[in-house]
Amino acid sequence: MIIQVAIAIPVNRLFDYLAPIENDTIEPGSRVLVPFGKHKKVGFVIATCENSEVKAERLKPIIEVLDSSSLISKKDIQLLTWASRYYHHPLGDVFSAAFPVLLRKGKKALLSQEKYYHLSAKGECLNPEQLKRTPKQQQIFKLFLTPTTLLSSAQLKQYDKNWRPTITALIEKDLISIKLRPKNSTQTAVVPELALVANKQQTYAINQLSAQLGQFSVSLLEGVTGSGKTEVYMQLIQQVLDLGLQVVVLLPEITLTPQLEDRFKRRFSVNISLSHSKLTETQRLSAWLEMQQGHSSILLGTRSALFTPLKNPGLIILDEEHDSSFKQQEGFRFSARDLAIVKGKLLDIPVILGTATPSLESLYNAQNKRYQLLQLSERAGVAIKPKFLLFDIRNQQLQEGLSAPLITQIKKTLAKNEQVLLFLNRRGFAPVPICHSCAWVARCQHCDTSLVIHYDEKRLRCHHCGYQQHLSQQCPSCKTGELKPLGLGTERVEKSLRELFPEQKIVRLDRDSTQRKGALEGHLDQINQGKVDIILGTQMLAKGHHFPKVTLVAILDVDSGLFSIDFHATEKLAQLIIQVAGRAGRAEKPGTVILQTRQPDHPLLTVLLKQGYNSFAQSALVERQQAMLPPYSSQALLRVYAPNPIDPQIFLKKVYGIIQSLENYNCLILGPVSAPMAKRASNYHFQLLLQNNQRKSLQLLLDQLIPELYLLKEAKKVHWSLDVDPVDLY
Ligand code: ADP
Ligand code: ZN
Ligand code: ZN
Repeated sequence: MIIQVAIAIPVNRLFDYLAPIENDTIEPGSRVLVPFGKHKKVGFVIATCENSEVKAERLKPIIEVLDSSSLISKKDIQLLTWASRYYHHPLGDVFSAAFPVLLRKGKKALLSQEKYYHLSAKGECLNPEQLKRTPKQQQIFKLFLTPTTLLSSAQLKQYDKNWRPTITALIEKDLISIKLRPKNSTQTAVVPELALVANKQQTYAINQLSAQLGQFSVSLLEGVTGSGKTEVYMQLIQQVLDLGLQVVVLLPEITLTPQLEDRFKRRFSVNISLSHSKLTETQRLSAWLEMQQGHSSILLGTRSALFTPLKNPGLIILDEEHDSSFKQQEGFRFSARDLAIVKGKLLDIPVILGTATPSLESLYNAQNKRYQLLQLSERAGVAIKPKFLLFDIRNQQLQEGLSAPLITQIKKTLAKNEQVLLFLNRRGFAPVPICHSCAWVARCQHCDTSLVIHYDEKRLRCHHCGYQQHLSQQCPSCKTGELKPLGLGTERVEKSLRELFPEQKIVRLDRDSTQRKGALEGHLDQINQGKVDIILGTQMLAKGHHFPKVTLVAILDVDSGLFSIDFHATEKLAQLIIQVAGRAGRAEKPGTVILQTRQPDHPLLTVLLKQGYNSFAQSALVERQQAMLPPYSSQALLRVYAPNPIDPQIFLKKVYGIIQSLENYNCLILGPVSAPMAKRASNYHFQLLLQNNQRKSLQLLLDQLIPELYLLKEAKKVHWSLDVDPVDLY
């Protein structure tokens, strides 16, 4: 028998091996160890067959069958096969993405077991009083309150350091037994919190959603920040748990998991597994196996957690569905949102997409009735909607980006003992150092970009390739001029805030200040305990955090997002403004949101602020339709780079020719052009954008085109990658 194996290498084909004679039931989906060149590799069995195109004498036998049965279901295999075809990405790599690293490396798929002690049948009938002549045994025995009490060694040790002889004696008397069980990865509530009384809109949403349990559907839960989406999720999750089924909750960012994890742990008494990149490989393997074996009922994770196999699938929830972190931006460039829907369909379970600012794609699907639209338009509980103010900063004296009226507002807010949140979408002290006398600007040697000042390290850094150099006081070009920071950065605003408000506690949240493990959690704790007066930060602040004491939010520089060559930029800016604004006044006190801009009449801002996100989205959809841009068309972006600018262009011209030679290619080909930032890390980037009004036609074209690319001799000199449904065009 021949086994077809997918191996994680960048080649779009399967490899044939001979099955071991004694083993005639190798299931697709199980892992095998195979000889590959001079090495051994772990591969995934895709199919078995009788014949191979490879000559019999060249076929090698596999070394070892690692799993006696498949670790993933037939539906999971279908999902991965579908993804490989849709994204035109090698199947071995796609399978690899679906398995935790340790399984990819061939480790056994075993959950680490732990010894638990519990009452034996005889123990259940014994009155503890009968042990009064052995008081130590009696004390330990009394810990087993009910027949279902399970205590681990660690728990017993907490009670009594010298517990072991006592337990051994109780076991010898046949009063206590031992059970091996997978370790509990999370401690959940013993007495779960009660659900809140849902308001009218929540009740409607919950009823609609619960009517769909047990079958495939996609619902877009559009709820303004603080409208109680999470409460809707939790009430629905409870219903799914009551049916004995499992729930997957996907989030864009790991920074969001601790908050949601806490809420879930207080509400549910089932096992909850976590899966994201900050965990150890062992922890990620455990989470995967806990769900696969049905030991856990809830999985909270980031995009790749979607591939975790489920023993009893019941529901998939994607929170903050508009967030572009759901799209993997390298290697296997999948969209976890789109694949969640494919998975829901295969498993015949509902999928919920939740957000305050739906992506244009999802709104479009809701308008076409492909998704059910559920709306929560009011904030839950006592909080009321914030008030928006546009501050025109043309011709205004700015103190490090802070206008005088804004400083006044900050003072007023602080005087009331309330918190202020300032948002700036840049990190570092300032984007560009410029010479005060000759206007020399520090550029990265490897990229088409300027270096950014990091004052605390006295360095200049490139935010694209990581290049860094010493920050000198004098201009390296004219040797006399002083280097001055141009533009705004979080560090510079922080410095200025410290001068303006020396008495206040200021916390900066950005990638630099939260790099240390636990730093973010520490800051968030301080903020929530009210120990912080001013929070200053980047992008990171826009994501689902709950800061009940913040009443003033200001976005210092809106303009930088208004002008971009990428058509996605306005959508992202509008989402960002609404998300950041959502941090204001989440509790009893009303919030104010201030936008500083030199473009107070820009249609995006006026529509967004006067009529809301939905009106903005409608007009943005009209613009997309007029330009035949997604979601009214489908795109695929072929990116190419090489250490010189010639080879990528030769390669793309060749590709262009191939496309034109294909039968009825009827596809819009944009390019080849150099990428918006052409030189990055000493490589030259070029691209070709393919677009068609029909997703299917584009797919047919890619089906013919991509296999050819692997064979091109021009491909050997470049790195190329395909991005189907790109979310940015860089
Ligand atoms: P979202 O996920 O939409 O931002 P949350 O679920 O976090 O909203 O809810 C925001 C706040 O409102 C939370 O403090 C939550 O406890 C509260 N809340 C939600 N639903 C209700 C309700 N039905 N009654 C009272 N308070 C509620
Ligand atoms: Zn100079
Ligand atoms: Zn660089």
